[in-house]
Amino acid sequence: MPVRHYEIPKHLQEVGCEPNPDFFRMVEYFYHNAVKVCEPSLVKYLAKHTHLSEKKRQQRVSGILAVMGSCNSCLQMEFPLQRKNGSYDIIQAYRVQHSVHRLPCKGGIRFSDEVNLDEVKALASLMTFKCACSNIPFGGSKGGVSINPRKFTVAELQRVTRRYTLELAKKNYIGAGIDVPAPDYNTSGREMSWVVDTYIKTLGYSDLNAAACVTGKPINGGGIHGRVEATGRGVYMTINYFIHNEHFMKLIGVQPGFKGKTAIIQGFGNVGSWAAVYLYKSGVKIIGVCEHTANLTSTEGINPIDLMKYMRGNKRSAKGYSVGGAKETGPDLLYQKCDILVVAAKEKTVTAENAPKIQTKIMAEGANGPTVPSAADVLHQKKVLVIPDLLCNAGGVTVSYFEFLKNLNHVSFGKLSIKFWRDSNTALLERGGRS
Ligand code: GLU
Repeated sequence: MPVRHYEIPKHLQEVGCEPNPDFFRMVEYFYHNAVKVCEPSLVKYLAKHTHLSEKKRQQRVSGILAVMGSCNSCLQMEFPLQRKNGSYDIIQAYRVQHSVHRLPCKGGIRFSDEVNLDEVKALASLMTFKCACSNIPFGGSKGGVSINPRKFTVAELQRVTRRYTLELAKKNYIGAGIDVPAPDYNTSGREMSWVVDTYIKTLGYSDLNAAACVTGKPINGGGIHGRVEATGRGVYMTINYFIHNEHFMKLIGVQPGFKGKTAIIQGFGNVGSWAAVYLYKSGVKIIGVCEHTANLTSTEGINPIDLMKYMRGNKRSAKGYSVGGAKETGPDLLYQKCDILVVAAKEKTVTAENAPKIQTKIMAEGANGPTVPSAADVLHQKKVLVIPDLLCNAGGVTVSYFEFLKNLNHVSFGKLSIKFWRDSNTALLERGGRS
């Protein structure tokens, strides 16, 4: 039988060398690269398990792959917000459902003035693949509100969140069996409690499972222990797995184990800070933290727990932190030599321009889509072990799943669920990622 070579669609062929591709095209590109590898085994699988002719098998596989590559639906909205000073802003917001193959769809809501439809589409598709990678029975979705929350009062943010939820509810874009949001960039339990409250008091009033319409809620509002630190903890756990794996460490020429290792954390929000805490607790020296207001370096090592406390009382900024010999430095901190680099800021921060300067051995993708394809090639050539976002930051949605189950079952359970996830994920990794 002639060997068929899977072709990346024409409109995506350039993405591999573009310095700053559109985010959704970039995700599509990575997707088709993965398809290149999986397509033959899918065809083989159908040959083994069905009586379809070869032509029908090919058609079915192409159909499945085409469906998986596209977004099912996009909701785009604009609504007014009266500001504290009496003026009006028109708020742009989105929700995208990428895959409805497994329901409900799942994905966070982000608040950022960089939010646009392309970004939300890309993030929604990454959620589908992330859930599939961890075998969590959710489809993928994502939401975004195009505002800089630092420029809004808490009362204004509450009105925006509640209005956004109402818009989702009336268009059937939220509900325990439909689509379940969660925290993401610049949102937290506070916003999720406004979401669930708005839903329960309006369209979800007769829905017995209304509490499961959103995850990442505060504990006293139906949340689950461990959700706040879950994504960072997942980042740590994947690093922990790879760094103790002799095979992988031999490939990149690193001594297995955390002993004597150094780390730089890019992005010190929820994901980066908790990943840093767990690394620190395992004996890793945090020699650098890059966050949006300051780049901190310390030869003695930064205590992330202390830095988190400092930032809480300093308008979420690391500026001025000097404990343990920490001092401010330039953005070149990212290129300092280290063993572990956690990229937990935003998408497309590792580019073909800065990738050659990165001097780490292991790069853990705490953010979604931080590496553009051309940078991925550079890192591959440099033999950097990249732990991909789909696996690396899946801890958040995994614990969300337990919160969802807890709400559906109308029971409460504690950290036991985390232990279950840790054990099952370790087992999965030990089988080489195959279930
Ligand atoms: N926003 C997180 C992510 O990107 C969590 C999503 C969730 O818990 O549904 O994975």
